[in-house]
Amino acid sequence: MDAPAATRALVPGRGFGLVASRDIAAGETVVRERAVLCGVSEAHRALACARCLATTARGTSSRPPPCPGCGQVLLCASGACARDALGHGPIACAAERLTACASAAERVDRERVRFLAACADLRRDAATAPPPTNPADPLDARRRDAAERLAALDRLCPRADDPADGVPRRDVDAAARLRPTLERAVADATSAPDPRGVVGGPAGFAPAGFAPSSPLAAALASIVGSDAENARLLAKEARNAFGVMAAPEFASPTAEGEAASAASAYAASAVAERSVRGAGLYDLASAVNHACFPNVARFDNFDAAFDDPENGFEARGGVNGGVYAPPDELRLVAVDRVARGEEIVMSYRPVGEPTARRRRGLRRAFGFACACARCALEVGWAREDGTSTGDEDARARARAAATAATAATAATAVTAVSAAAAAAAARDHDDDDDDDAAQLAADEAMDASDASRLARVDAVESARRADRIPGEYAMWFARNECPDPRCGGTLAPPNPKAAHMMCNYCGRKRTDAEFFAALEAG
Ligand SMILES: [Zn+2]
Ligand SMILES: [Zn+2]
Ligand SMILES: [Zn+2]
Ligand SMILES: [Zn+2]
Repeated sequence: MDAPAATRALVPGRGFGLVASRDIAAGETVVRERAVLCGVSEAHRALACARCLATTARGTSSRPPPCPGCGQVLLCASGACARDALGHGPIACAAERLTACASAAERVDRERVRFLAACADLRRDAATAPPPTNPADPLDARRRDAAERLAALDRLCPRADDPADGVPRRDVDAAARLRPTLERAVADATSAPDPRGVVGGPAGFAPAGFAPSSPLAAALASIVGSDAENARLLAKEARNAFGVMAAPEFASPTAEGEAASAASAYAASAVAERSVRGAGLYDLASAVNHACFPNVARFDNFDAAFDDPENGFEARGGVNGGVYAPPDELRLVAVDRVARGEEIVMSYRPVGEPTARRRRGLRRAFGFACACARCALEVGWAREDGTSTGDEDARARARAAATAATAATAATAVTAVSAAAAAAAARDHDDDDDDDAAQLAADEAMDASDASRLARVDAVESARRADRIPGEYAMWFARNECPDPRCGGTLAPPNPKAAHMMCNYCGRKRTDAEFFAALEAG
């Protein structure tokens, strides 16, 4: 077994991150791990397995069957699914039944309940773990596994041992609002026999690990978790989960031969964002910090990419006799050589996304202003060109939106209306509000105003701008950006000896011969 390529470490000014513990070759797998937890989105509840997010059972083309306990979600019937092949956790199952009639407005809360109920199932399993464990006992293994997953959740930010890293109000409110549902799910799971029959014998959810003197109510409350605990879990989920896109067949189709302009590429990516099948939380990968030029690309196996020998990933010991890698397995693959001691960084946004949009997205979703070398360069260009940097405050956003509204009046009535609404919304709110629609409209107005400014740039000015791009910068995009401009993915060699690069988002392959031919053609 090789020494681990990277380990968790405190990175000055950036909190915990992952640092290369040895030199890493391009194409090497830096991190390979299974999810701590996966959660299916409401939109894909009837399309993907609720535990592992696969849309087809391994080695077949059939969709996973519905959970026999709740009928609300799908679950793979095979052992290739999640670590737990025994069924839906009884609390998760009860929570699905309780929220089955959620209105459209409650769907986001339903995803939150799904996550908190899965955490409650882990607490329940871990709480019943007797101290001396017997490795031969599958129940012990299950309890240990739950305890390990809870410990992995603890390590994610915001951490309970770092009070300076606060929990957003949105999550505090959600935890309080969802408490009754969660309590009810725990109570329901208590009275119903455990479909897996693994804890506490035939009585199902008998809290076997608790002292008889301990009141049942207290035991149940500790499984529900305190509001503070649950709020923190929701914040961890929001900050660390990796979004998992729809399987190709469910992704929105793009018209054949559609003009591949930047505008259409980002319109397409906005549609794709809505088509997220779920999210996965990981132990090490979630600790990786962001940079706009990443040195690793994240590849996932929800659609069996690692099982296809054509793709060139190193196949090492999967499940089911080593044939298949688990669907929730994630790999961070080195895009380039990484020297020992260098921080492992990945891009939280599509690498080709324009400066302002990318920086706004990072600040809004992750709460930081990116200070990477690429941002420093591009923010400099934006200031020079009078376009937005993504750091504008509410007042500047309102101004841009108002300008766009005026300009749009001549174009289409719809754009004018939405730009005017954005202007009003941006005036009335500061950056802290989470009125997503207003934020989005204001951002679109700013992007439109940048686009119209750029459209007026003449050939001489374009040439001057092209001249200021450093060679390394241009080469990064030529080598590592997916050739499909609608994609936004990053290319990496799937193994150190590969003669091709592969896109981590669309799976497109480009041979080294094709790359050099394209370079020569200019
Ligand atoms: Zn599954
Ligand atoms: Zn169920
Ligand atoms: Zn950056
Ligand atoms: Zn791609």
